[in-house]
Amino acid sequence: MNSQYKVNIDTGLLDGATFCQSPNFNQRPDSDDINTVVVHGISLPPGEFGGQWINALFLNQLKGDEHPEFECLQGITVSSHLLIRRDGAVIQYVPFNKRAWHAGVSSFLGRENCNDYSVGIELEGTDDIAYEDAQYESLAQTVNAICFAYKKITAERIVGHCDIAPGRKTDPGKVFNWELFRKSLNLD
Ligand SMILES: [Zn+2]
Repeated sequence: MNSQYKVNIDTGLLDGATFCQSPNFNQRPDSDDINTVVVHGISLPPGEFGGQWINALFLNQLKGDEHPEFECLQGITVSSHLLIRRDGAVIQYVPFNKRAWHAGVSSFLGRENCNDYSVGIELEGTDDIAYEDAQYESLAQTVNAICFAYKKITAERIVGHCDIAPGRKTDPGKVFNWELFRKSLNLD
């Protein structure tokens, strides 16, 4: 498959993405133990697309008084490795070999703290508005590149935030088409 994306294993950066470093990261307990991809959905304010607010959130520049919905986000420190915009543009906030703060309290196959060993990818969207074709395209290309670089990530280890924090998180939501996405992956 032709892809514009490729992981630089030394830097942990995705060639083809725009890098915009978030201060919200730390060391992984084991930087060789990258074995899971977590797909998320996010929009700020909820249900609105295209603004700079997600960017501001990940850069700790979101001000609580700018929108009523932002008040509860004041002071929280979060990030993801990647954000995929509605038009398919890919922004990287944290190198893959570092630990981004996207999963929160979480557990996958009996192992807690998914941030330790996962790559977090946010799709700009909500649980109930269909994601764009361009987002599926970029998601497939970036996940294929990530899996090529980090061989411990298998098909079964590509999950939603809802799967690792059930009862607490619902993203990427019912509208996310797992079948379409999984068909577009070319894993061994
Ligand atoms: Zn999430």
